[in-house]
Amino acid sequence: MPIPPQMWSFTKRHQRFFKTKECLAASYRSPCGGRIVRAHIIPRVQLRQIAREGHIVAVPTSLLTIMRMQRTGFEAEEIGIGEFSTMNCFCARHDKTFFAPIEDAPLAFSSEQLALLHYRAIAAEFYQCVNQQESAASELDWESDEPQNFRFSWIFTWSGKASEEAHHALTRTEKLIATRRFKDVRSLVVRFDAPPAVMAAGAFRPQYDFAARRVQNLADTCCYVAMHLLAADGAAVLAFTWLQSDLAAERFVRTFAARPREQMASLAVQCAFEHIEHTCMSDAWWSDLKRPMRASLLERVRRANSLAYRRSPRCLSYRMRYADWSVGNIR
Ligand SMILES: [Zn+2]
Repeated sequence: MPIPPQMWSFTKRHQRFFKTKECLAASYRSPCGGRIVRAHIIPRVQLRQIAREGHIVAVPTSLLTIMRMQRTGFEAEEIGIGEFSTMNCFCARHDKTFFAPIEDAPLAFSSEQLALLHYRAIAAEFYQCVNQQESAASELDWESDEPQNFRFSWIFTWSGKASEEAHHALTRTEKLIATRRFKDVRSLVVRFDAPPAVMAAGAFRPQYDFAARRVQNLADTCCYVAMHLLAADGAAVLAFTWLQSDLAAERFVRTFAARPREQMASLAVQCAFEHIEHTCMSDAWWSDLKRPMRASLLERVRRANSLAYRRSPRCLSYRMRYADWSVGNIR
């Protein structure tokens, strides 16, 4: 099915919106400085640990590619680490100073580092939702009495709700960081006894937990959980973070902690593919997966990008053994 011309024009404009430059930390205590820089949500020093010749493997996330893959099938491809998981939403000064504790020091998952990782994941989510909402808005004719294009109205409404909720989470996190109440960002950190193979960083509003129970209804006001799958001391580490008063988020993470340890690596992989846009992997790990496993992970990405997708309560229930990294410790 060809893409209608108005869809292409929408997509091209959408890409332009993503280049809109504005610092998200502008309301923060210190003033902005320098131009908006392209920041990595997964630091390059992390990506290098799973890269081969400067490339990782990931499903591309640009809207143009997604739309093409909706016709031709979803595939993972090699992406240069300089191109992966970037966002233009912090000025040079804030990018350098604000994130110094996670960029310039080794990751030890201290409470300060976890709070900053949480903040950046929420910022990326907010950035994504605002851009999506703005580009949908530009396609709607506000003067017209005619019914509006369903697809754009739908994107406008839902990305608007998501961006409000992300903004609320962002402001609350910013306050905690400004007053150094890092411990109010709660966390579950799982260290694996295995080298990193999959990396992910992002925030999402969980609908169902790892025990197939509803966490929250997207029609109500929802809270965010951030997920990071990174590396420390040469081994894979998973961190879930959430704000202390977000009880739904805490309940969600508790159901992960209650799963058998031998399922945790696979559940982390499933969750990343289900919910986290910035997910990537080593070529070796991806190539070693059996074909049906790759297909089921790609299917998660395809559905997550479909307007018609209604999540099943069992979307995060254990299915397949995607990874056999044994758990070192949990805190
Ligand atoms: Zn700034």
